[in-house]
Amino acid sequence: MPRALMLHDDTPRARLETLDESQLPERAVRVAIDYSDLNYKDAMAVTGQGKIVRDYPLVPGIDFAGTVTASTDARFAADDRVILTGWGVGERHWGGFAEAMCVDADWLVPCPQPLSTRQAMLFGTAGLTAMLSVMRLKEAGLAPGDGPVAVTGASGGVGSWAVSILAHEGFEIHAITGKPEQNAWLEALGAHAILPRADFEARGRPLESTQWAGAVDTVGGQILANLLAQMRYSGKVAAVGLAGDAALPTTVMPFILRGVSLLGVDSVYIPFDRRRAAWQRIAALPNALLSHMHVEEAGLDDVTDRAQAMLEGRTYGRVLIDPRR
Ligand code: NDP
Repeated sequence: MPRALMLHDDTPRARLETLDESQLPERAVRVAIDYSDLNYKDAMAVTGQGKIVRDYPLVPGIDFAGTVTASTDARFAADDRVILTGWGVGERHWGGFAEAMCVDADWLVPCPQPLSTRQAMLFGTAGLTAMLSVMRLKEAGLAPGDGPVAVTGASGGVGSWAVSILAHEGFEIHAITGKPEQNAWLEALGAHAILPRADFEARGRPLESTQWAGAVDTVGGQILANLLAQMRYSGKVAAVGLAGDAALPTTVMPFILRGVSLLGVDSVYIPFDRRRAAWQRIAALPNALLSHMHVEEAGLDDVTDRAQAMLEGRTYGRVLIDPRR
């Protein structure tokens, strides 16, 4: 009988419960979950911030990797290794903070060789989103010789993978972070320069002196507005997140006078083929990238504590969840 972290609409909000198999959703593929991980959205769901969860009870966890134990869908069979990210899992559908879960076959991608399921979740939604951002920037024409690329929220899950992958691909990365104590680690990931977040928080002018050819932004708000004002001619910015603010207090000036492009990145509803392609690109990355990533490992009973820490800016890198721990 699988254990799961269950969210309720009263207190205590998050409870570790043992589920009867009949309580699992009636969906085509049953997966024994090897690993999940903690994302910003999970942290909000677990702590009740931001109205991520509307229907209770709910098992949170927006992504997981594991092994199929039973399937009524011809695309999957027992012992297949699979990855799930997005589709509202962990928000509207029961998710990955459990030892097993039943899910729709449409939501799964095969875990590509040589990635282990643990390695897949070291990337997780964060690594997938970073890879999608890199694909988006390169498809828009950004190339390593064009100039420096800024990454905001650089010590976070998406940010640190963006630093690591872009540096591996030959880009000169300027990491923007509010955690000066992580400067050495960000350099180890491949950052060329580290800039304090505070330098980007004040309201700036619509156009500033030009700095970057590209950017991956995970924080939104004034910081994204200032990045846009500092992009070089024809600069490309991937907008990924809102860890700072969902607002965007900008003007049209960077777009109409410098030809700057703001490229939206969504990992939740991207179609299967692009999702699989991104995972194959992740699987082709060298192991050295994984060895530099900072990983904190936690069990289901640590999730609430780690979620609070993430929202308070006390985590960095990746928080891996082992449901059997
Ligand atoms: P993390 O908590 O791991 O990272 C967020 C980072 O943002 C922090 O480490 C910190 O980095 C920075 N940060 C935190 N609070 C603030 C603040 N108030 N102002 C400015 N910067 C701040 O989260 P994730 O990497 O999981 O997610 C990052 C964002 O991307 C979230 O908004 C998330 O919802 C979004 N996201 C979007 C996806 C999509 O499909 N578009 C998929 C996945 C995530 P530092 O201290 O280094 O500055």
